Amino acid sequence: MRSMMLEDNLDYVRGRIADAASRVGREASDVHLVAVTKYAEPEWVHALARLHPVFGESRPQQLAERVPQYDPSVTWHLIGQLQRNKVRMTLPLCSLIHSGDSIRLLDRIELIASELGLRPAVLLQVNVSGEARKAGFTPDNLRALADKLVAYEKLTIEGLMTMAPATSNPENSRPVFAGLRELRDELAASTGLALSELSMGMSGDYEIAIEEGASVVRVGSRLFDGLGYRA
Ligand SMILES: *Cc1c(COP(=O)(O)O)cnc(C)c1O
Repeated sequence: MRSMMLEDNLDYVRGRIADAASRVGREASDVHLVAVTKYAEPEWVHALARLHPVFGESRPQQLAERVPQYDPSVTWHLIGQLQRNKVRMTLPLCSLIHSGDSIRLLDRIELIASELGLRPAVLLQVNVSGEARKAGFTPDNLRALADKLVAYEKLTIEGLMTMAPATSNPENSRPVFAGLRELRDELAASTGLALSELSMGMSGDYEIAIEEGASVVRVGSRLFDGLGYRA
């Protein structure tokens, strides 16, 4: 019963992803779905893992508890804040860190990666909307840091990530997503980094994000609709 509901939800989201991609002439296969499991019950995650292979967690501690329980074919992303003292435990657990939000953190990741012999993939989290309490680089920060960003040898900066402000109308997120894409294009040109990934869009606004160029959407609550998921 549960797994049928999960399967329906997953089919629904995948269908909306494909529709949004085709509206702007993109391929559905160019958009990757990260299933966000931060509030999901363990049994739902186990059921979903039979249907979908990429999960996102927002807390390193929960990542550490969950990852060892899954087949290595399931890959995990960290989408929430990473404290510097958790970098060592986190790097071996995930294939992508979406939340590179300061140079001090990136420096720490570079150092630990070199100690552990790892080549982590990282996205730069950008506070496009300029909300005061939101984590991330401002666009001007990043413009000023271009030289620093190209100097890392162990970590690879694969692109940018943002969260739009909470809103009841997903159209309000469009300028934020377009702003991230434009910043990416500008930084790619000024640094020579490919920055091919744009992680943007959640349950409420992933279709808009795809129309604006998202290559990765992070969807949690919509996948667990009907199961009693509490965000
Ligand atoms: C929780 C979370 C999501 C998913 O949010 P939903 O609205 O449940 O889809 C996406 N990104 C980040 C960074 C999150 O913390």
